[in-house]
Amino acid sequence: MSSKQDKSATKVINAGRAKQWTGSAVNPPVVRASTIIFDSVAQMQQASTKRADAAPFYGRRGTSTHFAFQAAITELQGGAGTALYPSGAAAISGALLSFLRAGDHLLMVDSVYEPTRELCDTLLQGFGIDTSYYDPLIGENITSLIRPNTRVIFMESPGSITMEVQDVPALCRAAKAHNIMTMLDNTWATPLLCDPFSMGIDIVIHAATKYIAGHSDVMLGTATASAAYWRQLQQHSYLLGQCTSPDDIYLASRGLRTLSVRLKQHQHNAATVAAWLATRPEVDHIRHPAFDTCPGNACFQRDFNGSNGLFSVVLKHGSRTAINAMLDSLQHFKMGFSWGGYESLILAVNNIDRIRTATQWDKSKPLLRLHIGLEDPEDLIADLSHGFAQFHAHQASI
Ligand SMILES: *Cc1c(COP(=O)(O)O)cnc(C)c1O
Repeated sequence: MSSKQDKSATKVINAGRAKQWTGSAVNPPVVRASTIIFDSVAQMQQASTKRADAAPFYGRRGTSTHFAFQAAITELQGGAGTALYPSGAAAISGALLSFLRAGDHLLMVDSVYEPTRELCDTLLQGFGIDTSYYDPLIGENITSLIRPNTRVIFMESPGSITMEVQDVPALCRAAKAHNIMTMLDNTWATPLLCDPFSMGIDIVIHAATKYIAGHSDVMLGTATASAAYWRQLQQHSYLLGQCTSPDDIYLASRGLRTLSVRLKQHQHNAATVAAWLATRPEVDHIRHPAFDTCPGNACFQRDFNGSNGLFSVVLKHGSRTAINAMLDSLQHFKMGFSWGGYESLILAVNNIDRIRTATQWDKSKPLLRLHIGLEDPEDLIADLSHGFAQFHAHQASI
């Protein structure tokens, strides 16, 4: 167990490692089970009354491997309890479906992760739940969009791809004044870089697939609720049949132990590469939350303890051909979706205007999203420098 006054680097080492979960081992072992065997009718009945409280009951409710990891996330993030899901996307749908009903209205940030938008526009729409999108920089003006049936305000900060940092305290104040619950996708920050509960958020969601697992080999989601919402989140997610493999939980729990030290290195490497990119003639501006060229940077300075390896860069111009030639030439930056592992990734995003409906996006300026891994930043800069040479060679040829 970690104690409240410990610094976060100490907390990630100790969180969830209570003797009751670890036994004499350092790490909570993998306990695989569907059926849990009871010694007597009395014991079975007793387990039944405690089944929602980290007591072994049936595999779908988790084993000690899950209970230890749930305790770890709750200790690090705050809140009253953590529900586990087989992916970050499932954590988002699990949280929304646990609280929204037909006839409800949902306010969703325009810079949200694309599959979250699709969930709202298809499945939730079909259930009679109406979504409207709001500008990530709207702040307290969110009040003008609130309807009598608004049930949830959903935030993601910084936003996916375009990285706008939201004024979370202002949005929470408006929500509370209208008795609306708030949820925040905190994947970018992890539990270490931002404390949404202290700003008034009711449910904090993570794609643990990213930095928490940290090695690009696990799919996992978490949703942590404040005391007022924990029982309903827990019960409804259970009724939706959500459960996770103890092997995946073991890997995520192992990844968690190095989260603090990994984030520091990602932060350093990304700041180095972003500062170099800012000097390049091809670059229009850097969308790294810690840079003042990123929308919402003042909120970032106020509300976050640090940054990580994920940011975007907007170029002044560039044909598809030139950008493809650049990306194809890179050696250290791999191409692939997701981020948060130890390795560097790059992605050209061409469809931003189609995934924004409340805000405008100038699609004449290409955007690259970079995840800066744990390689030496000098090697990454050399790689990008070579990539820009390819960019120019192909820019000229069209
Ligand atoms: C990746 C991601 C998700 C989804 O996580 P999966 O585990 O891939 O389902 C949700 N939100 C954000 C911000 C993400 O980056």
